Amino acid sequence: MAIHDFKSERLYVDADLKQGATVQLVETQAHYLLHVLRLPPGAALRVFNGREGEWRAELTDVRKRTCALDILEQVRPQTGGPDIRYLFAPLKHARLDYMVQKAVELGVARLSPVLTRHTVPDRVNLDRMRANAIEAAEQCGVLRIPQVDAPVTLAKALEQWDPARPLVFCDEEAPVKDPVAALQTLTSRAVGVLIGPEGGFSEEERQLVRSRAFVLGISLGPRIMRADTAAIAALTLVNATAGDWV
Ligand code: SAH
Repeated sequence: MAIHDFKSERLYVDADLKQGATVQLVETQAHYLLHVLRLPPGAALRVFNGREGEWRAELTDVRKRTCALDILEQVRPQTGGPDIRYLFAPLKHARLDYMVQKAVELGVARLSPVLTRHTVPDRVNLDRMRANAIEAAEQCGVLRIPQVDAPVTLAKALEQWDPARPLVFCDEEAPVKDPVAALQTLTSRAVGVLIGPEGGFSEEERQLVRSRAFVLGISLGPRIMRADTAAIAALTLVNATAGDWV
C-alpha cells in the first residue's frame, strides 16, 4: 500500500482514533463529504487527528445533514517534522492564507505572528489561520498540525525567546552572502525563522533583532522577494540545512 494515498479524501478530526471507533463529523465536514464531494455510504477516506497517525475510515450513518466515520485501521504512524518555529509579520488575507499553507507544507511546528512597524493588518484571524493550516495538512498528508500562536509585538517575541534556539533572521538589508554556509554553522535543529512584512523591517527593528546573540542574520540573495515568496525560500533553505530534509 502506498505510504501516501492521495486518491482518498483526507480529513482532520479532533477525536481520538482507534480501531472500531465511530467518529461523528461536525456539520460543516458532513456537508462537504455528502453535498460537495457527494460521497456515498461506505466511501473510503483517510482520517488523522495530529496525534495518532493516519487511519483508513469509511463513511457511515449517513443522514441528510450528518454522517460519521467508522475507523478501520492505522495506515501511517504519527510523524513529527522539523522543529522550526516560524515568526512572520501577518499579511493581508489571501497572501497570509497562502503563506500559512506553504509553511505547513514545509513542515513548520509552530506559527507565530509578530506585529512589526510596517505590518499591515493590525489583527490576525487565528481561526482562519488554523483552518488554513488544517486544509494544507489535509491536502498534503502532513500529520502534525502546527501550533498557532496569538500575535505579539516583535519586541515581545524577542524578549520571550529561548536563547538556546537560534533565530534565523531573514534580513533584506543583509549583505548578500552564502545563506547555506551561514545556516550550516547552526548546531541546533531547533530553530526559529523570522520574515518581515511587505514593507520590510524598520531600521530600528533591524538593529533590535541583530543585537540579540541568538540571532543568525541571513540574506536570501540579491533580489527583494515578497514576504510570502521569502517564506518559501527561507524555509526551504532551513529544511535543507537544519531541518528534516537532511
Ligand atoms: N522593502 C521591501 C522588503 C519587503 S520583503 C518591500 O517593501 O517589498 C518582506 C520580507 O521578506 C523581508 O522583511 C525579509 O524578511 C524577507 N526578504 C525578502 N527578500 C529578502 C532577501 N533578499 N534577503 C533576506 N530577506 C528577504
